Amino acid sequence: MGLFSLFFSKPVSTELTVTSDNGFHLRPIAKFAAVAKPYPCKIEASFKGKTVDAKNVNTLLSLSLEKGNHFKITAQGKQAQEALKVLQHTFITLMQDDKEVKKIQKEQIAYESDSVIEGQIICKGIAISPAYYYQEKRIQKETNMTLAEAIEKSMQELETLYHTQKDHTDIYLAQKELLASLQTEVKTLLELEKLIEKSCSELLDTKLEAKISDYHDILQRVQKHLGLETKVLFPKTPFILLANDMLPSQIEKLSQTAVQGVVLRETSVNSHTAILLRGAGIPSLIAAHDKIGEATEIILDAHSSVLITKPTNNDLQRANKRLEEDIKQTRNASSKRFDPVITQSRKKIKVLANVTDVNSATLAKEEGAEGIGLLRTEFLFKEEKPTLEEQTDAYEKIFSHFDEITVRTLDVGGDKALPYIDLPKENNPFLGIRGIRLFQTHPQIMEEQLHAIFKASNNRFLKVMFPMVSTVKEFNEAKTFAKKVAQKYQLNIEHIQFGIMIEVPSVLFLLDAFNEIVDFYSIGTNDLAQYLFAIERTHPTLYIEENSSVLFDAIETIVKKADKPVSICGELAGKSNAIPQLLDLGITTLSVSPKQIAQTKEEIRNHV
Ligand code: PEP
Ligand code: MG
Repeated sequence: MGLFSLFFSKPVSTELTVTSDNGFHLRPIAKFAAVAKPYPCKIEASFKGKTVDAKNVNTLLSLSLEKGNHFKITAQGKQAQEALKVLQHTFITLMQDDKEVKKIQKEQIAYESDSVIEGQIICKGIAISPAYYYQEKRIQKETNMTLAEAIEKSMQELETLYHTQKDHTDIYLAQKELLASLQTEVKTLLELEKLIEKSCSELLDTKLEAKISDYHDILQRVQKHLGLETKVLFPKTPFILLANDMLPSQIEKLSQTAVQGVVLRETSVNSHTAILLRGAGIPSLIAAHDKIGEATEIILDAHSSVLITKPTNNDLQRANKRLEEDIKQTRNASSKRFDPVITQSRKKIKVLANVTDVNSATLAKEEGAEGIGLLRTEFLFKEEKPTLEEQTDAYEKIFSHFDEITVRTLDVGGDKALPYIDLPKENNPFLGIRGIRLFQTHPQIMEEQLHAIFKASNNRFLKVMFPMVSTVKEFNEAKTFAKKVAQKYQLNIEHIQFGIMIEVPSVLFLLDAFNEIVDFYSIGTNDLAQYLFAIERTHPTLYIEENSSVLFDAIETIVKKADKPVSICGELAGKSNAIPQLLDLGITTLSVSPKQIAQTKEEIRNHV
């Protein structure tokens, strides 16, 4: 950027608030910096008197921003206004998409032994095996790679992992971005090691401390290419691994060993290591573990959140019994994931998937979904406006997996503004231009989306669902609009049904009228709860009571009044403590995330 434009353009700034429980951590930071980087203007982030380059993952991470913190983004120079607007939108979306780690409920198994260490659950399960303390070996090899080449190679590896791994791939992308930001500041390995040491020391005692392992992980990756490899040594026989911490990249190797459980001392339930342990299904705890005899058999009970270092025979028996139950349950659920689901009273229930992109449709198929109950199409519109071909291609790929598909038209607007369209600033974005209201304000975008959906449907049966419907008029207008689109492009839509999401309370009082015009309903409990209680679903401090009878009463009213098929696609549909009540209310179709399918089916089979 020229000095001229920097000196003579006024800086513009905005304040952002961290709303995710996990803080502004590595994965969202990497995505944020990736959006900031291409802009020609200078972009900085300031917090508590410290100002850093907002295009640099490493410096942004050093702000240690936690939930509730307000920080300032300032842009100056060419395209500063646009950059600020896009970054604001990106940040809000990132905060919304950042999943909280659900609090895992504890069980209580009564153990006799008094050598009990209390911990925190990372991944539920039980392990009974000898303890084994983490050991590594450093191997030095000849290599003539330069630091720049080693960094390049490491970034390529991370890129490959991002594309080839199934779950949690954004961890690798985040590590790649972090490495890219460090690369610009160092010339030698020693400088890289020192910079990493300094960055890690800034994260010590902050909520982002668990990200230190990501720095060590990328350092080891680079060192490996420079001839210094760290090999972790694992026993051949079953073991419970005790370590201070593990690097995210070590978890995949670990899961291929005879490991039964893992106890880490210095991680957090949100760390990348913890996420990958959960993904691999390895029972694990965070707990202190000094001086545990390595040869002795110990119990890691990540249901009750304890480590029993000197179990009695009775303790071992109890733990074994619980372990057998776990094995039976998982085997059972997974082996039956393709089977139809019938309750004990022989009622057939359909379990569909909530799908968010092409990959999650493939996963839904593998996990045993009977169809797609909610295809969230926002993924296509995130960065820039998709072409008709891009949209049609994605829908065709997704539609090819199942006979039953419900596709939801674009549900952005308000707080989730699209960076490439001009929406007016709203005081209450959750009550503003969202979902179906886009048909009025952005007909061109809706026309193109419907055109692509109809084209991809290619005469097959399909359900098209409108989000955020609050009046009969909105639905009628959207349906008329859809018919006109079909006419204009000469596409046959006789095989297409049109329905609505029920997520605005007004619909509960309009069901008689809607019964006359819609083909189906799907209850979006995430938004319905938000509007029933007037509490923003992303609010940093206000929480909606999860099991409130109000929400169940609303569902009961819908089931009673609706005379068209009703399904549930909000988060509530996948909650084990809510499923029995939903079935009792007469719900016969649940749509849940792909990973919840096998377990949801099992909950239904156990229901009387
Ligand atoms: C809902 O609101 O419950 C829902 C399923 O839609 P989304 O979470 O995409 O708003
Ligand atoms: Mg919704």
